[in-house]
Amino acid sequence: MARLEETKISGRGDGKVMYIPPMEPWGARLFAASFRSIGYDARALQEDASTLALGLKHTGGGECVPCPSTTGALLAAIQRDAVSPDKVIFFMPTACGPCRFGQYAKLDRIIFQRLGWEDVNIMSPSAENAYSGIDNSTRILLYHALVVSDIMRKFTHRVRPYEKEKGAVDALVEAHTKNLESAFSRADKAAIASEVSSTAKELADLAKSQTPRPLVGVVGEIYVRCDPFLNNDVCRRIEELGGEAWLAPINEWILYTTHLQDLLAREQLAGPRAIWAKIRNWLETNLFFERIERKYYELADPVLHDRHEHPIPEVLEEGMRYLPWQFEGEALLTLGRSALFVKKDGAKAIVNASPMFCMPGTITTSIFPAMEKELAIPIACNFYDGSGNPNQNLVPIMHYLTEPSRQSES
Ligand code: SF4
Repeated sequence: MARLEETKISGRGDGKVMYIPPMEPWGARLFAASFRSIGYDARALQEDASTLALGLKHTGGGECVPCPSTTGALLAAIQRDAVSPDKVIFFMPTACGPCRFGQYAKLDRIIFQRLGWEDVNIMSPSAENAYSGIDNSTRILLYHALVVSDIMRKFTHRVRPYEKEKGAVDALVEAHTKNLESAFSRADKAAIASEVSSTAKELADLAKSQTPRPLVGVVGEIYVRCDPFLNNDVCRRIEELGGEAWLAPINEWILYTTHLQDLLAREQLAGPRAIWAKIRNWLETNLFFERIERKYYELADPVLHDRHEHPIPEVLEEGMRYLPWQFEGEALLTLGRSALFVKKDGAKAIVNASPMFCMPGTITTSIFPAMEKELAIPIACNFYDGSGNPNQNLVPIMHYLTEPSRQSES
């Protein structure tokens, strides 16, 4: 039986089918394409009400909703595709710490054992095990996939509210996404760059000379805020109600965990080890992560010139007005990014999207009322569990923001 974190990328595929959780529409597809470039039959999982119901049937009921949703999507895919469990690799990253995310893969293992699927392979890379099991060149390609998916999502959110022909932006972005899947599956970085650039050029006209709509910053738990199925398509709902959404990107987490290593090294190490840790983090951040991010943002500039992210130290500085950095994790980013959305990016409202019972989501929800008063903007804290319509509370907020009298103020 394969144990957690033992599944390694062979570089040959070995006839394995790899399933990628559908956390974010572009990311899952581009990650799958990246794994196809090294021979795996990699597929992005699909979610809907029936896969969530299947996941809920096999979990305990108290887990945060990304857990049953990813589990159900996988179980449904294995059954639908009739793949032998020993041929399956489930890509389920993990993390240490008190948050439940670190338990997802362990619970999945128990569920597979109960189903008699002992041989399902789970691949659980994390920052703590240096993304164990993934070779260097694949890791680099996956990072490109992550940044490009953030950019494709930003393109959509930046331009779709202003489209003249309904559905035109989604159709154009989808056509380019298909080309990107093909480029990632060949690990062809020149073709990837050219596709990002041509998407930006084709969308550029739509991004300019429009009367801006009220901007709404969307923050919160990384899975639910990015997953339109679980958050009832909160960004599209903001658009339907007359606004424009700016969703905090996934890359924020990668840059944050790298910066955190630097902060921890400063506190825990001394002498040459501290100096070496500082140099390594600087090189990683400046010569790798930020260099790749900068390159794609330059290509995306015709559309995203006013949608750049702020450096992580600035986000943390704002977040640390409410929590110490030693608190670690998503709550700091959620608070800090919200403050910057309002102070620097001109957001007129914030949506804090979290799964029901989410630990960082509960903490930020207890702090946001104070921030709401301080920043004098509405902040909606929405919890999602796959039922009901949590986005209903956006109706009065967006009505207030889109009143003609307020539009003339902005
Ligand atoms: S961040 Fe929230 S939703 Fe995600 S695993 Fe932790 S508690 Fe669950």
